[in-house]
Amino acid sequence: MARTNNPEEQVTPAPPGGDQESRPTSLSRRQLLTRLGALGIVTAGISAGFDLLSYRDDAEAATLPAAEHAWVMVIDLRHCDGCESCTMACQQRHQLPKEQTWIKVYPMTDSAGGTFHMPRPCMMCEDPPCMYVCPVGATFRTDTGLVLVDQNVCIGCRTCMAACPYEARYFNWTEPAPVKRLPFPPTPEMPVPQKVGTVGKCVFCADRLPHGELPACVSGCPMGALYIGDLVTDVATNSVGQTVQLSTFLKDNDAVRFKEELGTNPRVYYILGHGQSIGA
Ligand code: SF4
Repeated sequence: MARTNNPEEQVTPAPPGGDQESRPTSLSRRQLLTRLGALGIVTAGISAGFDLLSYRDDAEAATLPAAEHAWVMVIDLRHCDGCESCTMACQQRHQLPKEQTWIKVYPMTDSAGGTFHMPRPCMMCEDPPCMYVCPVGATFRTDTGLVLVDQNVCIGCRTCMAACPYEARYFNWTEPAPVKRLPFPPTPEMPVPQKVGTVGKCVFCADRLPHGELPACVSGCPMGALYIGDLVTDVATNSVGQTVQLSTFLKDNDAVRFKEELGTNPRVYYILGHGQSIGA
């Protein structure tokens, strides 16, 4: 997996879009499996502002991305009931202590006084402040758009934690609890066990994606609220067998990105629907 932490080398794949007008809003399961199968993908704090801007047509670039895949996540808040199954699935897979919530579900209140839940993974920012501030290059971005941490390089300065506007990073203050023996040593894609004195975070289950498996949080969501998607192939899928044309799904549902005004270009899209207010 190619990696970089040089802003000048950043691949900035296009958000989904282009000439999608005539495409259906969803694909059949068979279509998706065929399509994804060919690509190796088969489905087998934030307390204050919820400042979201609408997904914008003008964000759609005409150029094709250079990478084979460009992973994104779509979180459909209409279906999230706050059960935290995603959090638990992630913690179990990565053998994390309870306080490390790589995907954290926040209880939220909208402007009308209604309540909803908002899962927050790492946003896999296209312009990740965490990476830019790392003094030793421990945080890097892959050619598929995943922001990962090499814990063998991390010196634990925690500058990245301060820089992340999404509170998505966690410091390992203590030695990890004894974990199940794994056949492979920890890698940035599958950092288990975590290393004391370093920073960790959500990795979108980077080790699973090339093998056609869903991230733990996506497969663990009983409501199908989480989708893993690919900007290149323009498809997304969830745990309950729903597959969609990514660009159309985002457009038709007025998807938004969290704290878009910061210019981090998150690769996580939210679909609202319970009356939450959206910033202009
Ligand atoms: Fe880095 Fe935070 Fe963006 Fe994740 S959400 S890429 S940790 S700045």
